[in-house]
Formats: sequence, C-alpha cells, structure tokens
Amino acid sequence: MPEIYHCWRREKPVPMLNEAEWAVVEPLLSIKGPDIREYREENGVSFIEAIHAFRDMACEKYNEITGYGEQNPLSLWNYRLANYGPECSSCGHLLRTSEASYCVQCGVKA
Ligand SMILES: [Zn+2]
Repeated sequence: MPEIYHCWRREKPVPMLNEAEWAVVEPLLSIKGPDIREYREENGVSFIEAIHAFRDMACEKYNEITGYGEQNPLSLWNYRLANYGPECSSCGHLLRTSEASYCVQCGVKA
C-alpha cells in the first residue's frame, strides 16, 4: 500500500510508490525503442502518439495502485519514495534527498 507524503513539487500530499510498485509503473514511463515500434505497428500510430499512450498507461497503473487520480504522467517521476530522504523527526515530511542536512518544510536539522 503506497504511503502518502507531502510532495514539495506539487505542494500537496500524494501517494509515494515503494520499489515494488515503482517497478510496475517505471517501465511504462521509460519505454524503449523496440516496444514503441511494436506498439506503433500494432496500433498504426505515430511515435509521439505511442509515447503518450505508454505515459497514459503509466498514469492508469499508478492510479490503479494508489486509488489516486493523477492525470500528469510526468509527475509520476516525483512519486518514487526511494528518491527522498527519511521522514523529518519534527514535522514528518520527507527530506528532499537522503543527503539533506535539514528539513526544508520546517527547518529542523536532519
Ligand atoms: Zn520538518
């Protein structure tokens, strides 16, 4: 079950994906040439249409996992829990990186 944390980029709480969940969504976001070519041949669409189709599938998968209603597939890159640091000991928000020396949200030293 995804954990919900404040996303400083989106300025609201969002479900963050653990590594098992990320492993389901990420391949759709970073789809590679052979899969795009195959999709294009099967569906008769342009390269850009194929990229958008895979990004939309990533969004649908994220929403299926989280029950959220994300509509911007590019935002998904910000929802990988492993990209953040631990919770702030004071406010509970995630530190922006694992190397963060303080919490940007409340100013407490990490
Ligand atoms: Zn804090």
